[in-house]
Amino acid sequence: MDEALAELKNVSMYFKKGNLKIGAVVDVSLKIYPGEILSLVGESGCGKTTVGKIFLGRLKPTSGEVLFEGKDIWRMSKKEYKEFRPLVQVVHQDSYASLNPVRTVYQTLAAPLQFYKITRTREETEKKVEELLDMVGVIPPRYFMNKYPFHLSGGLRQRVSLARATILKPKLIIADEPVSGVDASLRISVLDVMRRLNKELNIAFLYITHDLATARYFSREGRMAVMYVGKIVETGGINDLIENPRHPYLQALLSAIPVPDPKLAKKKRLLPLRSLDLPSAGHPPSGCRFHPRCPYAKEICEREVPELKDLGNEHRVACHLVEEIPKWALELES
Ligand code: SF4
Repeated sequence: MDEALAELKNVSMYFKKGNLKIGAVVDVSLKIYPGEILSLVGESGCGKTTVGKIFLGRLKPTSGEVLFEGKDIWRMSKKEYKEFRPLVQVVHQDSYASLNPVRTVYQTLAAPLQFYKITRTREETEKKVEELLDMVGVIPPRYFMNKYPFHLSGGLRQRVSLARATILKPKLIIADEPVSGVDASLRISVLDVMRRLNKELNIAFLYITHDLATARYFSREGRMAVMYVGKIVETGGINDLIENPRHPYLQALLSAIPVPDPKLAKKKRLLPLRSLDLPSAGHPPSGCRFHPRCPYAKEICEREVPELKDLGNEHRVACHLVEEIPKWALELES
């Protein structure tokens, strides 16, 4: 594989809340390669948004290194940091909050074009704004240029956010639940726009989501990392992980996806968890953090933290008993 574009090396991020020390991210190592799509999945509160902010340089981790093109972003010179900042952009879940409500679509996109002197005249700016809107499928661009965010659907607002994110020619976009606020019928079209930006502009994506179905759709040739209470528990090629999940947590997530066809739903094997409660990052369980819920837990699980083991083919799993626990498959063919 190529050299990583961005990398977290043994990164931990602790927050203080009164006397409580909350480990939002604990000893996480993660690489994003140039032009790839990496999905980071897990339940709300597992630390995935914090990982995104650390990649962006918005949060300085308590320990560990954050590298971009091989350089630690927290040890960069002012000049190096200034060059790094535009290369990593973010698209948030709430497109309504991230777009200025009193700016038209034209003003939103023209501001960075003019500020960074990418365009110099009104004609050049209009032409560039038209091109950007066309690229993200806001068509016809001239019609939408003078609209305000409240005139647009969630899907169109997210497309405008994506257009704005590409202006400074980023190499990486952190997309944090970008389609959670978009109507279900329009989600695929927004993900298709992101795939086009990935393919045509070679922009790598870190796709942060709790939704395995959209993760598989968006990063179908890419990789996935699964997070649980601040730790990465399984990583690898997304198709391999979904077809052959080895960590009981990923098996449980997959078994909980609803199936619309009642005949197929009957065939689905649910993985029975010992508890439905997600532990708090302020009081994480000892050893394997999944042990209070895991149906296969043994004494070692409570005592020792499992390391990520490579099962081959870049498939890594943090589970002491990975060789023993039964394999699990969707088994939905009729
Ligand atoms: Fe379950 Fe033990 Fe594996 Fe953790 S280490 S996932 S508790 S079997």
